[in-house]
Amino acid sequence: KSYSRAVTIQFRNEDESRDFHSAFEQWQKDVIQAGIHLPNGAIAASKSKFDYKIEPSSAKMYFHYYGQLLHQQNMLQDYVRTGTYYAAVIENRVDFTGRVVVDVGAGSGILSLFAAQAGAKHVYAVEASEMAEYARKLIAGNPALAQRITVIKGKVEEVELAEKADILISEPMGTLLVNERMLESYIIARDRFLVPNGKMFPSIGRIHMAPFSDEYLFVEIANKALFWQQQNYYGVDLTPLYGSAFQGYFSQPVVDAFDPRLLVSPPLCHVIDFNEIKEEDLFEIDIPLKFIASVGTRVHGLACWFDVLFNGSAVQRWLTTAPGAPTTHWYQIRCVLSQPIYVMAGQEITGRLHMIAHNAQSYTMYLSLSAKMWGPGAVQGGILQTSSGKLDLKEPYYRMSQPQSYTMAQDQQPQQLLQAQAIPIRTEDLDEGELLRQPLENTGPQLQ
Ligand code: SAH
Repeated sequence: KSYSRAVTIQFRNEDESRDFHSAFEQWQKDVIQAGIHLPNGAIAASKSKFDYKIEPSSAKMYFHYYGQLLHQQNMLQDYVRTGTYYAAVIENRVDFTGRVVVDVGAGSGILSLFAAQAGAKHVYAVEASEMAEYARKLIAGNPALAQRITVIKGKVEEVELAEKADILISEPMGTLLVNERMLESYIIARDRFLVPNGKMFPSIGRIHMAPFSDEYLFVEIANKALFWQQQNYYGVDLTPLYGSAFQGYFSQPVVDAFDPRLLVSPPLCHVIDFNEIKEEDLFEIDIPLKFIASVGTRVHGLACWFDVLFNGSAVQRWLTTAPGAPTTHWYQIRCVLSQPIYVMAGQEITGRLHMIAHNAQSYTMYLSLSAKMWGPGAVQGGILQTSSGKLDLKEPYYRMSQPQSYTMAQDQQPQQLLQAQAIPIRTEDLDEGELLRQPLENTGPQLQ
């Protein structure tokens, strides 16, 4: 508690600041090593919440990645993403004008600059990677805004700020919303810096899920392992590794933009309320699944995407990554099961998506889908077909373009593949109450 106060020290120039910083660090190290007890307590060489749960090598690679301008450019050039943030901030000036803002993971500093444009009294731009230096440069080059922005290099779990924030702004979303585990940092920043009942931009996130049918994708993945079926590869029998290779390919979530007509039923969603959720609630995410198939087909797995809400006082805006909506750099993800399941129109598909966070800033995903078998067994009380798989969200397979010349799978001809299911995905411009009810309603098309 004795360390909960922060002070701001202003230096005449950068050299002075750097000298002070290294002298302070050295002093801190000496004090810790000598075990000296200071009048107001001992300095513990304690790790932060981040260091406790994240493998140092993972963190090193992660912040190295974000330290590079090319990756920040990639995000900035996602116009759906950056444009939605811009609109959400500028249309809700009322939430920023005269307010103290913390930008959680500021990167290039773009959201801090938006907040300053919207009239923020002061913005603290917290960024852990080397990008903090570029953010300083960029902000300094925009002098009209620079005087109201302070860049702080460090993790939000570790830095101290001179004052509390009225509003947090952040872009902590990874693939499937939760990849990178940055949502946890956003929550920690809320608990450390935000005033009670302060605003969060965004304030909620939703993971949407629906079973899909995609014979091409299934065959493409299954075929990747065929290499290991060779019995005479330079005189070597490769087949002992076939099973492992097959499993390996199905453990990669597929990242690409797909046609929403591949969905077999209306999606359901799992809501994460950033204002309410605890950091620990994100360590394990367990979602029960229940769908009604709109068509008879082979189900190859679970398709997932997310959206987040900017719940502004003036305008509510959703940033969506749904299939069929303008594509973002997040695309969508699909978890493909090595064993497809057969469903009839109107049939219930049940299952579970169980995600467990790991120390490499991602999740292990356990997916299972089940459907009652059609035919004589079903009449006698039902035989369940179940298919399950284990996937690592950290190892996605980026598959941006569909292979053009693909051997047609025998049981799915082109006209079948293209049959329109037109499952409506309504995510934008609806009020929150209506949206939160959406998964409970079966708004799907009439059965064909
Ligand atoms: N806000 C910027 C960048 C978003 S990318 C934009 O919208 O364009 C997320 C950024 O958060 C990365 O630059 C990453 O280095 C930073 N980050 C991730 N975890 C962090 C943490 N715990 N503390 C501080 N910065 C973090």
